[in-house]
Amino acid sequence: MKRLLLLGAGHAHVHVLRQWARAPVPGVELLLVSPYQRQMYSGMVPGWMAGRYRLEDCAFAVEPLAAAASAHWHHDRVVALDAASRQVLLGGGARLSYDLLSLDTGSVLEGRGLRGAAEHALRVRPIETFAQRWTDCMAAAGRGTGSGPGLALTVVVVGAGAAGVELALAAAARLRPRGRVVLVTGGTAPLDSHPLLARSLVARALRRAGVTVMRLPCAEIGPDHVHLQGEDDGRIDLPCQVAIVCTGGEAPRWLPESGLQLDGRGFIATGPMLQSLSHPEVFAAGDVASRADAVRPRSGVQAVRAGPALADNLMRALQGKPLRAWQPPVRTLNLLACGDGRAIASWGPLAASGRWAMRWKDAIDRRFIAGLQGATPPAA
Ligand SMILES: Cc1cc2nc3c(=O)[nH]c(=O)nc-3n(C[C@H](O)[C@H](O)[C@H](O)COP(=O)(O)OP(=O)(O)OC[C@H]3O[C@@H](n4cnc5c(N)ncnc54)[C@H](O)[C@@H]3O)c2cc1C
Repeated sequence: MKRLLLLGAGHAHVHVLRQWARAPVPGVELLLVSPYQRQMYSGMVPGWMAGRYRLEDCAFAVEPLAAAASAHWHHDRVVALDAASRQVLLGGGARLSYDLLSLDTGSVLEGRGLRGAAEHALRVRPIETFAQRWTDCMAAAGRGTGSGPGLALTVVVVGAGAAGVELALAAAARLRPRGRVVLVTGGTAPLDSHPLLARSLVARALRRAGVTVMRLPCAEIGPDHVHLQGEDDGRIDLPCQVAIVCTGGEAPRWLPESGLQLDGRGFIATGPMLQSLSHPEVFAAGDVASRADAVRPRSGVQAVRAGPALADNLMRALQGKPLRAWQPPVRTLNLLACGDGRAIASWGPLAASGRWAMRWKDAIDRRFIAGLQGATPPAA
């Protein structure tokens, strides 16, 4: 009996599990390690914050997915990996060995290098913790579901990539008409890495939502302030009740000791077959992996698209068949919710916004999550 060990129930592994449920490889034991009963779908989280969705609309249960694939689910998290001895250590103390390993554990967000982030900020990852803390903040301010208008909060979002912009717009929608949202970009314009048209549509959406954009670096987060580094070494204090850190994915801390070859930022270096460059019995996809030959921005769309290729190559490796190379898409459709019923759709240099784009995003997201909330996938 061989053992395939899946770490994380991320976007790519969801496909592996569904594929395995349809066509398992005989003589192989399948194990899944994932720390939460419920997997949140990040694409719908801003919509939930804005009040568009209920939390249960944006999540699926891990157990039925594992059960459909006859996978043994370890409700735990990986804390160490030793690629040389092919062993994984879980937080609860269990050690698991493997013949073939696949990682899709995503990125983490600790706000490394940002003083006070760990103590005082809501960090968007893990999303499960973020969702709970945002719910608590809203309840404490008398803004829970069914409550009145509540306190006029100031929310500061640190980090102005696509997720930070969406969260700021969602918070503005949620706090309207009493509240203030500030988006701290670190110095650049919001969505700095995106083409001009998308950037200008985002700037317009932020203006329309009344979000204040501060193009300054964040120096420190305090219990009731965010300190910005102003020009000429001056410090600017932004008083706030809630600070959200969304400064981009970081690599898990347990990877450097694993012995796997990593990229310069500590993510697992993989090649065209989604295989580790140092250990052929290890595969990785999604945010935790980094394609040495085809660098792409990390996104859920990229992780989803890697799923079928990962499933195929894992099954091929188990059956001793030659692996297949896979090229991640150079461009993907990005849909960014504006919190007001509109969205911005962008594809390479092209971008447009409107209610039609939000209907499109809503349909894609609901279809994706419905496929995972409904138990057993159809037979192939
Ligand atoms: C607010 C927000 C909105 C976003 N919106 C979009 C969007 O609209 N479109 C888009 O393309 N991208 C979006 N992203 C980015 C997207 O969330 C990530 O790129 C995507 O989740 C990466 O998928 P993944 O499968 O690599 O990891 P994840 O989806 O993060 O899944 C990781 C899995 O591993 C598990 N795990 C974590 N640590 C461990 C451990 N130590 N041991 C075992 N299991 C572990 C987790 O519980 C989870 O099951 C958004 C991100 C955020 C924060």
